[in-house]
Amino acid sequence: MGRVVVIGAGIVGCALADELTQRGWTEVTVLDQGPLFAAGGSSSHAPGLVFQTNPSRTLAGFAAYTVGKLRGLALDGQPCFRQVGGLEVATTPERLAELARRHGFATAAGIDARLLDPAECARLHPLLDPGAVLGGLHVPTDGLAAPVRAGEAQARRASGRGARFLARHTVTGIAQDRGRVSGVHTDRGFVPADVVVCAAGFWGPDVGAMAGVTVPLQPLAHQYARTGPVPALAGAVSEASAPILRHQDQDLYYREHGDRLGIGSYGHRPMPVRAAEAAAHADSCLPFTPEDFAEAWKQSLVLLPGLAGTEVADGINGVFSFTPDGMPLMGESRELPGFWVAEAVWVTHSAGVARAMAEWLVEGQPRTDVSECDLHRFTDVQLSPEYVAERGIAQFVQVYDVVHPLAPLAGPRPLRVSPFVARQQELGAVFGESRGWERPLWFAANAPLAAELDLPPRDAWSARHWSPIAVAEARATRERGGLYDLTPQTRIEVAGPGAAGFLRELTTGDVGPVGGVVDALLLRADGGVRGIVTLARLGEQLFQVGAGPLDVDWFRRHLPDDGSVQLRETTAGTCGIGLWGPRADEVLASLAAPDARGGARCSVGGVPVTVLRTAPVGEPGWELHTDAACGLRLWDTLRAAGEEHGLVAAGQHAYDSLRLEAGTPAWGLDVTAELDPVEAGLQAAVRADGGFLGRAALAGRRHERRLARLTLDDPAAIVMGREPVRVDGRPVGHVTSAAFGPTIGRAVALAWLPADLAEPGRAVTIDWFGQPVAATVVREPGVPVRR
Ligand code: FAD
Repeated sequence: MGRVVVIGAGIVGCALADELTQRGWTEVTVLDQGPLFAAGGSSSHAPGLVFQTNPSRTLAGFAAYTVGKLRGLALDGQPCFRQVGGLEVATTPERLAELARRHGFATAAGIDARLLDPAECARLHPLLDPGAVLGGLHVPTDGLAAPVRAGEAQARRASGRGARFLARHTVTGIAQDRGRVSGVHTDRGFVPADVVVCAAGFWGPDVGAMAGVTVPLQPLAHQYARTGPVPALAGAVSEASAPILRHQDQDLYYREHGDRLGIGSYGHRPMPVRAAEAAAHADSCLPFTPEDFAEAWKQSLVLLPGLAGTEVADGINGVFSFTPDGMPLMGESRELPGFWVAEAVWVTHSAGVARAMAEWLVEGQPRTDVSECDLHRFTDVQLSPEYVAERGIAQFVQVYDVVHPLAPLAGPRPLRVSPFVARQQELGAVFGESRGWERPLWFAANAPLAAELDLPPRDAWSARHWSPIAVAEARATRERGGLYDLTPQTRIEVAGPGAAGFLRELTTGDVGPVGGVVDALLLRADGGVRGIVTLARLGEQLFQVGAGPLDVDWFRRHLPDDGSVQLRETTAGTCGIGLWGPRADEVLASLAAPDARGGARCSVGGVPVTVLRTAPVGEPGWELHTDAACGLRLWDTLRAAGEEHGLVAAGQHAYDSLRLEAGTPAWGLDVTAELDPVEAGLQAAVRADGGFLGRAALAGRRHERRLARLTLDDPAAIVMGREPVRVDGRPVGHVTSAAFGPTIGRAVALAWLPADLAEPGRAVTIDWFGQPVAATVVREPGVPVRR
């Protein structure tokens, strides 16, 4: 048990103190610069709407836990949560379809939800004009949190177990001793600590800076106003009884305050602020700017004509945090061990985040997968103040938008390009973005290949941000071969006398002698799969590791102290090309003679490359890695050699569809730490002998789930991921990723299912915009995998 200082007594700090002390960590001190518990941060003036439905199952899970917890909490007889339900309405056909999709998100997360017609919506909400809406989504368990009360109630419980809450203590510095956090300096003295958690809300970047830690969030002001008494609500006996209401087509939401209505708007111009600017005002709220609220009021009168008898009485431009991807920031800083962050958390997710943080601190890992929220998920270029500001503002603007899963990021772009970009542009590449990198999705130059295809029609939604050219590129890969830009994939060099032992201890793989290349897993202590990696032994003491973005951090944290292992992420200075397909061997053989077993260094067209035998798309072939400076020559060499074999340059969409046909799961999408190797179907990557992190836990795992492989029965049907899967109409799992299978001519999907429902031949349905789509569990989703 450590001494913990939590900076911030908002809803997050209070919830964390409660969760920590409940787990026996009672030496907890929560400091706030303001008074307790209306401390002056975002929680002090949040109206507390809790809508649980979210495309992210992680966030939906956090919200569901928050609801369950706050519903059982009261302070001096006053409830901390009113379960009035949540209603989202549609005023456009596009939104109506989106609500059906969101119904699927709720179902996949185990949240009860129902689609309603306009009359049913109006019956639920007294002010709503049924003629103004096309339908709605009702979640009966949503409701209203009382953030300050809920904070204080959790703080009292924590205090009862020994926690201290200190008002008017401003943290002015983070102390360090021998590379670890050792306490905090405040304007009223030093507080020693083994662990410091930054739960400082939109002050997070400032507190982070005291520790040398980048906390990538942008504070933005958001308007919230209250009307005067509304005649239609006259005589209201409780604070709120109608469901909380969202009118996303106009970026608006509503809740009752007795006989008044509260109106929140995201429709106004973005108002980025600095924490110090906001803190200069009472309660850290910027003054209300009525001119920015005019449109919100006009639109509110259309949706809720009963408001005509009243007007806006008061309002705030309240400030809270937006991250580049809209997700919270959680975890321990790499820069300063012992310094943790729980930032950019809505009231909605507060208790769920606090529970996961407490599990992480006390047990060493959260029980659920929180990788989407990991503090270290951004690359360096994504941490620049300009990037954080632009993306944070974009998140504010888009907060209620209908966002297509394949929609390309608007900006800032381009940030990182591979050395092949000029050639890709010549081929008419349509670029997507991934963690700051430009990635070709498909190439217009391959359009003639697509003209020969006879594909089933796609619906308007799934046809967006997609092209049949990707199918043509995938088929060409299966028939002849394809070149894929692998530059954005994370590459790590592990070297030194301890390197082999280190990789044996930290991964499930064994690369054996020099030249070996194997797929391996990174497991958590509980046996959950927290990474899928490729290990290549290039020398007795030298390895190249193909990894996921979060794995660098994991490797670094586990490095031995004795200096026997050196680790270097080489992604930025190097590049990679995937050369896969039945002709791949011939193409490479015409240029070099790599060791057919696996990893080797050789020269290709005069370029020194590391060549690795891999088959993620189910075709034999190679990855070729080299210095970024040599990349263009490597690309040109392979293109020239591939020409007589009919090799194509192929994009990310072709890659994804091929890997799904081959049944290759992607970590973070199909596999997370919530699955063990058996559940993920990856036990072949677990070596039989010797110890490694997570091995001890494997024997005790019950393998309750399976990553199942599905094909859709109707060749014209499509799903895209995150949809619920049903057996006999009952929701039992969800799709993790899906694509049209270019070889088998129908959609293929990976899905989490209960183990006893995942046997091949099992008939299931998948919700697609509210309609059931028939699918079947198959042993292999597509093609025989050739290595
Ligand atoms: P805060 O509540 O801001 O707490 C951080 C605390 O840290 C503050 O009390 C501050 O004083 C303290 N602190 C900072 N720096 C220091 C320091 N150096 N030393 C000591 N103490 C320090 N969310 C929802 O889920 N539903 C909603 O309906 C909703 N509506 C909102 C409406 C408005 C107008 C606003 C502004 C926000 C809304 N939010 C809503 C967002 C939500 O309020 C925040 O995301 C949440 O309250 C953040 O909680 P927190 O504990 O992280 O931060």
